[in-house]
Parts: sequence; C-alpha cells; structure tokens
Amino acid sequence: MTHINRRALLSGMGALCLSGTAVLNTSSRAAAQTAAIPMPPVPRLTRAHGLVSVHAVQTTRPQVALTFDDGPHPTHTPVLLDILARYNVKATFYVIGSMVRRYPEILHRIVAEGHEVGNHTWTHPTLSRLGHGGFLREIDRTQEIVWRTVGVLPVTMRPPYGAITGRQSHMLAGERNIPTVMWSVDTSDWRRPGSHVVADRMIRGARPGAVILAHDIHGPTVRAVPQAIEGILARGMELTTMSELLGWQHWGPRGLRYVRQGAADNWRG
Ligand SMILES: [Zn+2]
Repeated sequence: MTHINRRALLSGMGALCLSGTAVLNTSSRAAAQTAAIPMPPVPRLTRAHGLVSVHAVQTTRPQVALTFDDGPHPTHTPVLLDILARYNVKATFYVIGSMVRRYPEILHRIVAEGHEVGNHTWTHPTLSRLGHGGFLREIDRTQEIVWRTVGVLPVTMRPPYGAITGRQSHMLAGERNIPTVMWSVDTSDWRRPGSHVVADRMIRGARPGAVILAHDIHGPTVRAVPQAIEGILARGMELTTMSELLGWQHWGPRGLRYVRQGAADNWRG
C-alpha cells in the first residue's frame, strides 16, 4: 500500500512540483549520485539564513513556537490537529521520514491545515555517532519523502535526543542550508509526568522567542494541549510556527510557502 502511494505520489507530484526536473532513478547508484536528490535545495531567501543552530529566538514579539517531534502518529497526531484547528493555532511538526512514508495522509493534513513541517531524520538515530555520509542520508531521505509527499521542504532540522555535534550543525547549514533547531523549553513529556504537568511546563516556559519541545506520539501530551494553549494565550502570547518565529516566510501563519508551483526560479542560483 505504501508502495502504491509512493508511486502515485511520484507520478502526480512530479508533474506538479518538479516542473521538468528529472525524478530520481533509484535503480542505479551512479544515477542516484549524479541526479542527487530530486528536489530543490532549501533556498537562501532571507537574511536569517546562515543560521547554524538555535535554541530560542531573540525577539520582543510575544510569540512562542510549539513543536512536536516523532510523528506523524496514526491516532495522536490527528487528535492534536483537531485541537489546534479548534483554537486556530499553528505548530511545527518535526517528523520522522520513515513515519511519513507510513502515514502520508497525515502529513497532507498537517500541511493543508497550515502547520510547518521540520526534519527529524529518517530513523531517529543518534546523529552525533554517525559519519558524514550516514548523517546526510538521514537528513536527505527525510527531505525527499516530505517533498514527494506534500511538495514542500522542511527548512529546519531537529536532531533526535538533541544529539548533534557542532561540526555536524555547521556542515548541515553549509551544505544544505538547514539550521539545527533545538529548544528552550523541554516538557520532558516522554517521561509521562501527566497532562497537567506538561501543560504547566508549556505555559511557564512561554516567553518571547521560546521554542517548546513536546512529542505528538503521547496521548497525555495531546490532552495537555488545550490547557496549554489557553494558558499561553492568557499570558498574552501568540503561538506560531518555527519559521514565523525566526522571521522567515517559508511557513508562515497564512501558509505562505516558497516551493509551490511557480517558485522554480527560487530553487536555482
Ligand atoms: Zn525525537
């Protein structure tokens, strides 16, 4: 089923988004290397690019980014999307490429509803233990599946476990124009402290420029979100996407994205 979906997407999206660019021939290693990845690089469209790594954004605007790692999850992510829609709040999803392959329809929904998608690797490894080639394969494969599935590219990467070397972050920024996004508020929701504690940590951490880390693979986290949103809004803060927080226009609150049709000129040069 996944295979059929991918093929259908490849033929459909190829015409729509790649506008004549050759689709990767995976049958030949040499071809794969010369054709590289059948998608545009993340363009340097804003002065903010050149950023290597960020934990929080320096800003006086009352904005915070809610970020959810490790999905898409077949049941928890859709429930979370329902909640975010109810409050008209946008979030950023750091997705695992292999999960995107399993649940492409959920990624479609994430993007259709105006949320941002970030790269959280293909297999969720400890990147700091990987060599140059293995590291880039984790990133590139995930860029590629997101691109093939929804026709847009992640512009930031979050390393699993926060494990990345300074050298790797510089390499990723230099070779792929993708900054590493860590976090400034850790809900530690994976320790399962309960919804109330998770919500409380999100609310307490919500100050201008904060990046809040949570995971949309845990039911209690998702159940914490209504209380968290209400508490954060009550503090006079807005919830926004990671790109918007950074002042970029790639994934804005109104869904402005640079890699839709007609943006081909931005891919080159
Ligand atoms: Zn993770």
